[in-house]
Amino acid sequence: MSGTNEGGLMDGWIRNHVDGRFVDPDDTHAFDDIDPATGQVVARVHEADRALVDRAVTAARRALHEGWAATPVRERTALLRRAADRIEERFDEFVAAEIADTGKPLVQARELDVPRAIANFRTFADVVAAAGQESFLTDLAGGRQALNYAVRKPLGVVAVIVPWNLPLLLLTWKVAPALACGNALVVKPSEETPATATLLAEVLAEVGLPPGVYNVVHGFGGGSAGEYVTSHPGIDGVTFTGSSATGSHVMATVAPRVRPVSFELGGKNAAIVFDDVDLDEALTGLTKSVFTNTGQVCLCTERVYVQRSVFADIADGLAERAKGLKLGNPLDEQTATGPLVSHKHREKVLSYFDLAEQAGAKVLTGGGIPRLGDDLAGGSWIEPTLWTGLTNRDRVVREEIFGPVAALIPFDTEAEAIALANDTDYGLAASVWTNDLRRGHRVAQAMNVGMAWVNTWFLRDLRSPFGGCGLSGIGREGGESSLHFYTEPTNVCVQL
Ligand code: NAD
Repeated sequence: MSGTNEGGLMDGWIRNHVDGRFVDPDDTHAFDDIDPATGQVVARVHEADRALVDRAVTAARRALHEGWAATPVRERTALLRRAADRIEERFDEFVAAEIADTGKPLVQARELDVPRAIANFRTFADVVAAAGQESFLTDLAGGRQALNYAVRKPLGVVAVIVPWNLPLLLLTWKVAPALACGNALVVKPSEETPATATLLAEVLAEVGLPPGVYNVVHGFGGGSAGEYVTSHPGIDGVTFTGSSATGSHVMATVAPRVRPVSFELGGKNAAIVFDDVDLDEALTGLTKSVFTNTGQVCLCTERVYVQRSVFADIADGLAERAKGLKLGNPLDEQTATGPLVSHKHREKVLSYFDLAEQAGAKVLTGGGIPRLGDDLAGGSWIEPTLWTGLTNRDRVVREEIFGPVAALIPFDTEAEAIALANDTDYGLAASVWTNDLRRGHRVAQAMNVGMAWVNTWFLRDLRSPFGGCGLSGIGREGGESSLHFYTEPTNVCVQL
């Protein structure tokens, strides 16, 4: 294998990164990276074959045992802080790469995606540096005691599989704690968004991460790099963010070897709007929660339950705000909404537009493909869309669509709202909009989800647990929860 540790994105290629080197690309094993705003090819991506994935896993295992796992915590956390600083120095490159892959608006990439990646590295450096160990002093017969203490060791070689919607943010959410805990990684970014994981390989090499600790292999899922990584016998655990269907598949793949998994999966998240709410504040929050990132955030709201007396105000107000979202060139400072990630994904979202029509929905706004300028004509654009007239029995209200869409459904009582919101196979997030403090707490606690917000959405303290139940996932990451997944405890019991 040849290559250097620079130039992951060079000469129109996006390269694999194995054992501290970028691998020379091979055009017979490659696919196109498309800019979804224009439909134009931005780069060729070298698809890793099984042999290259094997080399990545072997390199990770060697790096783990040659010293990374035993590197003192203060050195690992110092490296994480240098990585954060280096991303800050190369900020514009990360922003540009993320926009080229996703078409997301400049404002979002600059204010959310890349800053959160930096925050992930700094937060997990702090969390790991401050982490203690469990210990128990046990009283024994005869006045003697035993001291129990748990030593936390790295999980080992961890497969990191991530989706395309918030590529760098979600990747670093896993990479930062995993590295801080002393693991070696084989990362498989989404085939739609390979660039920033590759740039991160450059950054980590620049700040002194030993070769083999962070490897990137590109490709698809089944029959490609995703499957080669998760089915590899050298993998000690899988941390996965993506759809529930793929999560189930990955679980079956690792089941014969009984490997731990951490799954952050899909959602069909509800908002509940009570009639005592500040309408303007609720509309601002709902607009964010339905339409951020063109609805392609696992936490986005696709079901809005509104108390009947304010139903018309919320429906009209939200439709008005949706119409005001500016679609357009992602690099334009005024652009609020980008395209969907691909034509394939747009086909999926459009199929739900058909289902809504068949179910007799009324379209409040949107429902089609927008007409934009010639330069954007080849992009996978879609109109922000709102429906009324649907019920919890309709597929549009039950299945994750993952687009800038929501169904608005009226309710009369608090109990009814809770029942409607919890009537789902998913369990990721919910938001409650009310000016009644007690009701806010009560209803939020009644939500069968991993994360419930009151009068806000998406607000996160990275030290708090993140994840979902039901079809939305297994386990939690964030703060100490991440440390639990990325380490294996050995309990030592000493009779005193
Ligand atoms: P996806 O499941 O299609 O793909 C996710 C990743 O898994 C990609 O890298 C893909 O190549 C890989 N993959 C696909 N099949 C695989 C296989 N058989 N073996 C191994 N890897 C495989 O999801 P997506 O379309 O990229 O992302 C959208 C989904 O992600 C939505 O369902 C969304 O809700 C979910 N998501 C969840 C969270 C969360 O934190 N809960 C966050 C973001 C996105």
